Amino acid sequence: MSSVPRSPDCRDGNCRKCDGEAWDDTTDALASCGCTCHLESTH
Ligand SMILES: [Zn+2]
Ligand SMILES: [Zn+2]
Repeated sequence: MSSVPRSPDCRDGNCRKCDGEAWDDTTDALASCGCTCHLESTH
C-alpha cells in the first residue's frame, strides 16, 4: 500500500483537470485519485 492510484491528469500536474477518479493498476479497478491535491478541503 505504498503507492496510491493517481489519475493521469494529476500525474502530469494538471490537478485542476482531475475529476477525482483514477485507475488502480494494482486492483484493475476504478478508484479514487490519491493525489494530495484532493486532501485539501479548502478550495
Ligand atoms: Zn492532483
Ligand atoms: Zn486527482
